Amino acid sequence: MEKPAILIVEDANVFSRLLEKSATDLGAEPLIAKTLKQGLALREQAGARIVAALVDLHLPDGTGQEVLEALVCQDYATMVFSGSDNTTLRESAWRLGVLDYIVKDQLASLRYLQAVLGRVLRNRGSLAVVADDSSTARKQVTDLLTRLGLQVLGAKDGAQALELVRTTERVRLVVCDYHMPNLDGFALVRELRKQQRYNNLPIIGLSSTDDPSVSTRLIKAGADDFLPKPFAPEEFFCRVGRALDMAHLVEGLEQAATRDALTGLNNRRQFFTLANQLWANYRREQLDLAFAMIDLDHFKQVNDQHGHGVGDSVLREVAQVITRNIRSTDILARIGGEEFCLLAVNTGAADSRRAYFERLRSAIAQVAIALDDGACLRPSASIGACSAEGHDSVEAALKRADELLYRAKAEGRNRVVIA
Ligand code: GH3
Ligand code: MG
Ligand code: MG
Repeated sequence: MEKPAILIVEDANVFSRLLEKSATDLGAEPLIAKTLKQGLALREQAGARIVAALVDLHLPDGTGQEVLEALVCQDYATMVFSGSDNTTLRESAWRLGVLDYIVKDQLASLRYLQAVLGRVLRNRGSLAVVADDSSTARKQVTDLLTRLGLQVLGAKDGAQALELVRTTERVRLVVCDYHMPNLDGFALVRELRKQQRYNNLPIIGLSSTDDPSVSTRLIKAGADDFLPKPFAPEEFFCRVGRALDMAHLVEGLEQAATRDALTGLNNRRQFFTLANQLWANYRREQLDLAFAMIDLDHFKQVNDQHGHGVGDSVLREVAQVITRNIRSTDILARIGGEEFCLLAVNTGAADSRRAYFERLRSAIAQVAIALDDGACLRPSASIGACSAEGHDSVEAALKRADELLYRAKAEGRNRVVIA
């Protein structure tokens, strides 16, 4: 994807440099302008690549309202900042459609700005579902979320919202009214939270009711936050922003807890979690399961001869090759240093099972890693594999696969030994 650009219009060098660094740190390309005229010219040049603009309201060739009218725009998220807090300007900025108005009186405001910018870059293009039976309210919320860079799907009631979340991959936010026909906000939240995969989906409730119990009921049902209507855009962005950030943090924690950082595969703990779930079904539904231990041959030599960096590249490449050569229902993990573990589903009778693992071995043996000196490194792996049958736990089956792996090593490596 094309690198997003951040337009920075700020004449003070120190601040401009700090903003430039913020943008670069977030993986965006900073476009620096010192005057309003330069800002407009850069915007013209960069066009749709600009996803956000950071705009000072005191420029050599323009100030306040003039700058706002020239640079606040619906095509990107505009964050304006000013040396002094001015109520008229602030209100005008919100009316024109800024994402934030920040007073740059301390270092904390720079950190805050960086957080807002990070949020825009992270969530840009993500899908949000807005459920409200009032089309005016739907439009207002849609406009606000669009300022954040989100793509919005509108729903006229809770049932439609539920359907949209279920049928659309990767909805990242739900904003719902309380009073709606078919399924109200309360029931919608309850339905969504019933399902584990929506546990971490941020939901913000809205309502114009006078009934003070509505907010607590929504939150107790599982909504992350609640806003009474009417609300100020600034408060809306604060609450939505916090909910999105929280979901992002939880996602990061989940990743760290279940994934191997080097290859992105499942880690050991996640392998056992998923394998034990499958094992329960295996018992019930008589699934055909096979376990394999896959260990790279003479991998220590790879590190010793070519360095740890090359060793890491081999691990990443082999992880990808294995992933490409198994089925999506199989469970693969990096279980130790250069050991992978695979739980394969429905590989079939003995012959086809052997062929399945043989194909995997052969695919790994075809990996070629280009070295700096122009030479080529060809890793290989030994595989020990067995059926789940005759074993009474995941651990027992894996232990058997491990014994078979050692036989494959002893018999000369780059081979499959299967029972
Ligand atoms: P064998 O064919 O008998 O399996 O020999 P081997 O050298 O592959 O086995 P051994 O268990 O002696 O060595 C495994 C090596 O894997 C040792 C360690 O340096 C390397 N290793 C483990 N984890 C990592 C890692 O994350 N990155 C890199 N680059 N190397 C790793
Ligand atoms: Mg090894
Ligand atoms: Mg080993």
